[in-house]
Amino acid sequence: MQLDHIGIAVNSIEESSRVWVDALGLVLEGIEVVESQKVRVAFLPLGSTRIELLEPTADDSPIARFIQTRRPGIHHIAVEVDDIDSAVGRAKGSGLQLLSDAPVKGAHGTRVIFIHPSSTGGVLLELVQRPKEG
Ligand code: ZN
Repeated sequence: MQLDHIGIAVNSIEESSRVWVDALGLVLEGIEVVESQKVRVAFLPLGSTRIELLEPTADDSPIARFIQTRRPGIHHIAVEVDDIDSAVGRAKGSGLQLLSDAPVKGAHGTRVIFIHPSSTGGVLLELVQRPKEG
């Protein structure tokens, strides 16, 4: 397992790029819309991990609600797993509260699922399984 990315809720990817790209020198890999989460997503590689900027595309997006109640900032931490189905089974078996019954489609062909912060000591945790190569 490894840290896949740190998700940051932002009002505007373009505006946030002034910090991450212009001031810090990270490279923006491209922007993708994830319909299931109602967000635009930008990934910026950072060593072996990445920064994920999340911009809401609708007022009822979970990211919009997060920004309304808690301001922009760190939203979640994502851990890469080899087998998300067994990771989900393990999380359920440990009594963790998941935000959906099964993994959903994430950015770049990944499968993802979120674990509620009330189960993890206050950290929204995302499990990510990357698409198999080839
Ligand atoms: Zn994420």
